[in-house]
Amino acid sequence: MQPPSAKPFHVQVRAARLAAHWTQAVLAEKAGCQQSQLSDFEHGVRGKVSRETVLKIAELLHLEPPPEAAASAGPSIPAPASGPAAAAAHCPNFECPSNLPYFVGGQLFFLPLGTAGDGEHCALCGELLERECPHCHAHLHGHGGCCPVCGAPLLEMPEGFVEDAAAWAESQRALAVALRDAAGRR
Ligand SMILES: [Zn+2]
Ligand SMILES: [Zn+2]
Repeated sequence: MQPPSAKPFHVQVRAARLAAHWTQAVLAEKAGCQQSQLSDFEHGVRGKVSRETVLKIAELLHLEPPPEAAASAGPSIPAPASGPAAAAAHCPNFECPSNLPYFVGGQLFFLPLGTAGDGEHCALCGELLERECPHCHAHLHGHGGCCPVCGAPLLEMPEGFVEDAAAWAESQRALAVALRDAAGRR
């Protein structure tokens, strides 16, 4: 018998969802996608759900996310609404709602959104925006959680972080959604 981790991620998702006694509708609602998207995803159809949703599903079901979703800033990341100029800058403040945290596999991962703005300072928290990789100082053109040159995460959980990281990540994402909704109503 193979260990569960040897199975493709979408198979693990289906198994874990059934074990949790969740219908597709329940998981889809928690993960913020359509049931039809989740159904296709569980059948191995690629490109139906965003990387964000894949990470969210992994977190909800306590699964190791697939490496392509957890580690790198692949082309599957949705481009920010504000265009390529905004994508090159991210806010270095890990607590800023322009950075979406995910607690996966015992670690926090951050996905900088394009919402920090393309000025000098973050439109949300006022921090000076960062345009370079903090590790290799490559100039960033892409948009994702990791440097496309050296692969280092652009933001990391600071040492001595004392909060319950999973609950904190959840509340930060709720805050980001609330801010986005507020901006959409303007
Ligand atoms: Zn900020
Ligand atoms: Zn780098």
